[in-house]
Amino acid sequence: MGDVFTRLQEGAKGCIVGKKFCFAEHTSIGTGGLAEYFVRPLSQEGAQNALSCLYRLGIPAVYLGAGTNVLASDQGFGGAAVCTDALTGAAFDGALVTAGSGVKCGNLLTAAARRGLGGLSFMAGIPASVGGAVRMNAGTAAGHIGELCQEAVCCDGKGKLFTFPQRECAFYYKHTAFADNGMLILRARLRLRQSADPFKEIAAAKKARAGLPRGRSMGCVFKNPPGASAGALIERCGLKGARSGGAYVAEEHANFIINGGASSAEIRALAERIRRTVLEKTGVLLQEEIVYIGEF
Ligand SMILES: Cc1cc2nc3c(=O)[nH]c(=O)nc-3n(C[C@H](O)[C@H](O)[C@H](O)COP(=O)(O)OP(=O)(O)OC[C@H]3O[C@@H](n4cnc5c(N)ncnc54)[C@H](O)[C@@H]3O)c2cc1C
Repeated sequence: MGDVFTRLQEGAKGCIVGKKFCFAEHTSIGTGGLAEYFVRPLSQEGAQNALSCLYRLGIPAVYLGAGTNVLASDQGFGGAAVCTDALTGAAFDGALVTAGSGVKCGNLLTAAARRGLGGLSFMAGIPASVGGAVRMNAGTAAGHIGELCQEAVCCDGKGKLFTFPQRECAFYYKHTAFADNGMLILRARLRLRQSADPFKEIAAAKKARAGLPRGRSMGCVFKNPPGASAGALIERCGLKGARSGGAYVAEEHANFIINGGASSAEIRALAERIRRTVLEKTGVLLQEEIVYIGEF
C-alpha cells in the first residue's frame, strides 16, 4: 500500500492529480497559500472517481471553478482542490444548452450568440465558470442564472450522481441548494432564447459594467441586505478608500475590495472592519457573498 498521494493518483482515474496547488495563482483576487493536492477531473467519470477516492482516503475537498468569488487562507488548505476547468464542452439543442461546469460563461455567451441565442447576456463580464455561476446563482439586477437553469447534474462527496431539476436547486438571491449540500456540479442545462441581435445584448450588458473597478478582486464582497445596496451602505459609512495593509475599498464601487499587494488575512481584516463599521453606524449586519477557503 503506497503513500496517500500514490493512492490518490491510483484511485482518481480520469483526472490529472498533483501536489501543491497555489490559490494565489488560480483566483481572481490573487492571494492565498497552497492546497496539499489538486485533482482536475477530465470527465464526469473522472470527477466521480476523484470524489469517491478522496472520501475513502479521508482527504477534505474544496471545489474551484474560475476562482472569482473565493478568498483562500494564506495558510492554504489541508486537502485537495478539485478544479473543474477541464469539464468543458457545450451541446446545443434548439434554445437549450448543456454545458460542462468548467465552461467559462463568457465563452458560452459567445457560442450561444453565434447560434442566434441570447437571454444569458446579464452574465457578460462576470468572470465565472458555469458550475460556479450555478452554485452562486450569479447574475445582476437584469437576471440570475438560476432563472435559466433547467437542471444540474451533480456528484456527491462519495462520487454518486444526482440530477437536480430547477425546483430542487433552491435558487434564491445569492443562495442555492449547492451552498448547503456539498455537491459538485458537473454540468447544467440552461434554457436560452432566440435573440434578434445577441451580440448587441452582450455589448450593452458589458457597457453597463464599464464603471466597475478594474483591479484584482472577488467582485462584490457582501450580499445586498433586503431592500438595500451593500455598496451604498459601505459608501455612506465613509469607507471608500479604507485600507488594511495592501487591501483597499475601491473608489468606483464600495462593495469591491481590491488587492494592491495584500495578503488574504489583510483582505479578511478589511471585510471584518467593513462589517463592524456598517453595523455600528447603520444597524445592518452585512453577510459575505464571497466564500472563504481554509482557516482564518
Ligand atoms: C470583477 C468581478 C466581477 C464580478 N461580478 C459579478 C456579478 O456581477 N454578479 C455576480 O453574481 N457575481 C459576480 N462576481 C463574482 C463571481 O464571478 C461569481 O460569483 C461566479 O459565479 C463565481 O464563479 P467561479 O466559477 O469563479 O466560482 P469559484 O469562485 O471558483 O467558486 C465559488 C464557490 O462555488 C463553489 N463552486 C465552484 N464550482 C463549483 C462546482 N462545479 N460545483 C459546486 N460548487 C462549485 C466553490 O467551492 C465556491 O464555494 C464577480 C467577480 C469578479 C472578480
